[in-house]
Amino acid sequence: MEEPSETRKRPSRNCISLVRKLGHTVSLKHEKKEKEKKIKQILKKPECQRTEEDVKILKELDNIVQELHKRARQRDRQKAHLEETEDVPEVLESKVKLLADLLKDSDHAILYTGAGVSTAASIPDYRGPNGVWTLLQKGKEVKPTSIVDACPTTAHMGIFKLYQEGLVKHVVSQNCDGLHLRSGLPQESLSEIHGNMFIEVCKNCTRERQYIRTFDVTEKTSFHRHRTSRKCHRCRSNLEDTIVHFGEKSSVKYPLNWEGAVENVEAAGLIVCLGSSLKVLRKYTCLWRTHQPLQRRPKLCIVNLQWTPKDSQAYLKINGRCDDVVQRLCCELCLEIPEYKQSCDPLFSLTTRLRKREMSSFSTKELRLVPSPCETPLKSSVDSELELKKEEQDGEAEIDKDHENPPQPGWFGKGLRKRKLSQSRRRSSKS
Ligand SMILES: [Zn+2]
Repeated sequence: MEEPSETRKRPSRNCISLVRKLGHTVSLKHEKKEKEKKIKQILKKPECQRTEEDVKILKELDNIVQELHKRARQRDRQKAHLEETEDVPEVLESKVKLLADLLKDSDHAILYTGAGVSTAASIPDYRGPNGVWTLLQKGKEVKPTSIVDACPTTAHMGIFKLYQEGLVKHVVSQNCDGLHLRSGLPQESLSEIHGNMFIEVCKNCTRERQYIRTFDVTEKTSFHRHRTSRKCHRCRSNLEDTIVHFGEKSSVKYPLNWEGAVENVEAAGLIVCLGSSLKVLRKYTCLWRTHQPLQRRPKLCIVNLQWTPKDSQAYLKINGRCDDVVQRLCCELCLEIPEYKQSCDPLFSLTTRLRKREMSSFSTKELRLVPSPCETPLKSSVDSELELKKEEQDGEAEIDKDHENPPQPGWFGKGLRKRKLSQSRRRSSKS
C-alpha cells in the first residue's frame, strides 16, 4: 500500500539548514542569557566577597560585563531624564528676570507650548510622572478626562497678555485642547500644529472652510479616519476633524497654520519653549532653523520640569511650572494677567451653529455660554444665524438635546485605547 503523499514529502535541504540555524541561534541566545545571569550575580557581591573563580569569569567575559554596565548607564540616564526638578525660588527668580530681559530685548520672540501649559487645567501631560504615557508604561489605569471642561490657565492668559503687549509675536502649540484660541489669541498668530479638537473643516471648498464648534468634534474620528459625520453647509462635502495623530501628516491650512509658524521662525530672535518635552517638536526641523549654524539660530529658552533633548543648546533652562514661571514673568514685566472670562472666549463668537438636522450628530458634552447679568452674550457668526432663523421660520421645533450623557473620550481617549489595546495584545502574545 502506498503512503499518503503528505507523509512521503521530505523537507528540502534549505528547510533543514534553516531549522538548524534557528536552533543554533536560540541556543546561543540561551547561553548568553545564562552568562549574563551569572555575571549579574557576581556583580551584586561586594568585591571583597568575590571568589577567585568569580574574578576569572568576569575577566573572561569582559565584553558581556561592559555591555551590562552600558545598559545600566542607559537605564540611569533615562530615569534621570524622567525626573522632575524645580529650581529653588531664588534661582527661579533670577532666571525669570533674565527671561524678561531677553523678551524686552528681542524684536521677534515666539513661543512653543506643550502639554505642560495645560496641566493646571487638569489635562494630563504625556511624559510627566503622572503623564499618560508614564502611567501606561507602569501598567496603571488612566481615566479619560473631559477636556471640554477645561478653561485657559494662568499660563494661557499670561501668554495672551505677552502677545497683546507685542512681546510675543507668534505661538506654536502641540496641544489640541484649543485653550490658546480660547484665551483670545487670534488664529493668524497661532499654529496648532496637531489640530484643535473644536474645529472641523471642509477640504472641498475653494478656501478651506472652518467650522468652529463648542463640543469635541473628534467623537467619531480616529487614526486615518477623520470624517466627523457632519457636512459642509455650503457644498455638502463631508467635514473632517483637524487632529494629527502620531504617524500622520496633515495639510489642513487652519488651525495648523504651518505657514505662519515657518514665517515667524525665520524672523525670530528668541524661541521660548514652555511645558514641552520637545521629543516630538524637535523632529520638526523647520522650527529650529537647522539649516543655519548654531550661532545664527534664535536664542533658545526652555521652561520645563524635565530634561529635554534641546537642553544642551539652550541659552537658558528654567526648571519650573509653566503657570508659576508665566506669572512671575508678567510680574517682572509689570503686566497684569487678564482673568479668563467665558463671555470673551472666542470659541462662542466664532462658533458655527448646528443646523436642526445636525443637533443629534454628537453625544459629547457641549460648552454652554452662561451669560452674566451685566454682560451681553456674544452672537454667533452671521451666516449661521441667518440659516438658523430660516429653519425656525420653516416651523421646525428645536430639539432638546440630552446633555446629561456621560462625556465620551475624543481624540485623547482614543490614543489611550489604542495604546492599551496594543499593550494587552503584547501581554497576551507573551503569555
Ligand atoms: Zn465645503
